[in-house]
Amino acid sequence: MGWTSNDYNHEGWVAFGAPDGRLSRSSTGAGILFHGITGEYPPAGEFDPNQEIVPDDLIMSWRGACTCGWQGELWHRVASAAEADIATRKEYVPVGDTADVSGEVEDAIQQEWHVHIAPSEAILGVEAAAREHRQAANRLDKTVSAAKAAGASWADIGRAAGITRQAAHERWADK
Ligand SMILES: [Zn+2]
Repeated sequence: MGWTSNDYNHEGWVAFGAPDGRLSRSSTGAGILFHGITGEYPPAGEFDPNQEIVPDDLIMSWRGACTCGWQGELWHRVASAAEADIATRKEYVPVGDTADVSGEVEDAIQQEWHVHIAPSEAILGVEAAAREHRQAANRLDKTVSAAKAAGASWADIGRAAGITRQAAHERWADK
């Protein structure tokens, strides 16, 4: 499960942090799967010989991650509900539970990711407007040649286009 940007260039998710700093997005019933074999944790076995399983209780942090390589702020796991605090990125997950963050924290991490993709999302608007701008400029050129061929004067064309006769002539006479 992740979040996808409108240009499909970014997919974000909440990554689990192992005590040694590795990040993962996959969990199993037995814990969280991490790439690399340190020997500290049980191997994932036949399922994937290059991964090992860190028990949920040993997950000490989370952070947003994105397919582009971006990483969000570190969220720390705290030992009691009283210490949990969204503002300082402290999350409480009881021992024995799966190491998933609450919906509230997931929303906060997704919000960090939205800030990360905001520039590329805004650029999509510029691209769309530039495309329409080019199409409109093409249509203008075509309608001007049609008007000229039909016998309209540069003064008529300039007036219609909102520019002077001379500007119309300079812009379209040799097209
Ligand atoms: Zn990204």
